[in-house]
This record gives sequence, structure tokens and C-alpha cells, in this order.
Amino acid sequence: MKPEEVIRALEVLRDIDINYPPTQQDEADVEGTIELAIQALEKQIEKKVKNIRFSRDYELAEHNIMEGECPDCGETVTGSYLGNYCGSCGVALNWEWK
Ligand SMILES: [Zn+2]
Repeated sequence: MKPEEVIRALEVLRDIDINYPPTQQDEADVEGTIELAIQALEKQIEKKVKNIRFSRDYELAEHNIMEGECPDCGETVTGSYLGNYCGSCGVALNWEWK
């Protein structure tokens, strides 16, 4: 989930007009939004990449690239150009191998 989507969900939560007593739908909306926000924030916490290794980048044969497995979803991630987030699940990646 992208930060913009979390912000939008939280704005809905802020502006929600809860009935008293709250309906089951109100409770589900509030819980669902909070759960989404927690999940999105958890993705921002760096997790260590598993099985880090160097691999030859065949398109740019002079470069060795780092790759490993995403700690959350198990997809192969590379450390060269894709930044510090898993392209598949979005979790923040930490490439330290100690
Ligand atoms: Zn992932």
C-alpha cells in the first residue's frame, strides 16, 4: 500500500460520522482502516534481505549486482537499481549482511 492510500484511508477515518451506538459497519470500517495503516507502517520498517549474494548482471556485464530474497514475500530482490524496497510486496529492505 502506498503512503497516499494510507493517508486517504486515515482521512476517511478522521471524518467518519460514527453513529451512537456504532453500527457493525462503523466498527468494521474503523478496524479495517487502522489495520491497513498498521500494515503500511510495518512495511516501512527495514528487514534484512535473506541469502545475499553477488550475481553477474548480464545486461551490464561489467557489473556485479547484489541479490537476495525478500524477508516478507520471498521474491528475489536486487540491490542495484530497484532501490531499497521490495518491488513485489513493498517492504523496506536492509542489505547489511552481518
Ligand atoms: Zn517482498
